[in-house]
Amino acid sequence: MSADYHVHVIAHGEYQYSEEWLNRYLERAKQRRIRAIGLVEHDEYRDRVDWDLIKSLRGPELHVACGLEIDFLPGREETIKEMLSQYPLDFVIGSVHFINGWPFDHPDYRQQFASADIDQVYGDYFELMDKMVRCGLFDIVGHLDLIKLWGHRPVIKNSLQYALPVLHSIKATGMIIEINSAGIRKPVREMYPSLDIIGEMFRLGLPVTMGSDAHHPDQVAEDFADISQALWNIGYRRVVALRGRKTFPLPLTI
Ligand SMILES: [Zn+2]
Ligand SMILES: [Zn+2]
Repeated sequence: MSADYHVHVIAHGEYQYSEEWLNRYLERAKQRRIRAIGLVEHDEYRDRVDWDLIKSLRGPELHVACGLEIDFLPGREETIKEMLSQYPLDFVIGSVHFINGWPFDHPDYRQQFASADIDQVYGDYFELMDKMVRCGLFDIVGHLDLIKLWGHRPVIKNSLQYALPVLHSIKATGMIIEINSAGIRKPVREMYPSLDIIGEMFRLGLPVTMGSDAHHPDQVAEDFADISQALWNIGYRRVVALRGRKTFPLPLTI
């Protein structure tokens, strides 16, 4: 086990930063043999992060980093730039959670898939992903194929074909892709991204990090045995973590 760089302390707004709460995450990370943990909040909660508290809990056993998971929406770039200049960030995840205002991963809006053209939805989603990558503001691509979470699949092209142009943009911009285990807990029951996409990432030489998308201490590094093994089988032998928005390598262990 190497790094979990997608851990939400505030979750969906229900928790607060306190030493006791934060320590529960760090303890769980140590139990699960994590070497580096990246605490990240959705950008809407950025003013509730206790950056100094995070800094005070840094120790030699576990590298503790802090970041933001920022919603990419076209036209939001200037707001994002301003946000990035305001906080002591070790890393920034860029994520697409909205297609034309539709929060497709929110359970309350899931039924909109029933009447949608799934190929159109995949096309729109990966086009937004591509814009997110090309804007150059982020370090890590969050849950690359999140659009599959409820189990809908395209028919005209497969997911890898939709994702391929984005992988080439990632190669050109030097971003890192997270292997996110949260999909295993979702109806699709698969990590993000899928194995065929990870295989292509490996062929392209794209660096990866790992994330559980934990919204509770118990979820830190959840299903990491599965995702580490999958990465290993594909050929990866190291992952990266970040400090001050610069990467450093960690060995992948299974
Ligand atoms: Zn997300
Ligand atoms: Zn997240």
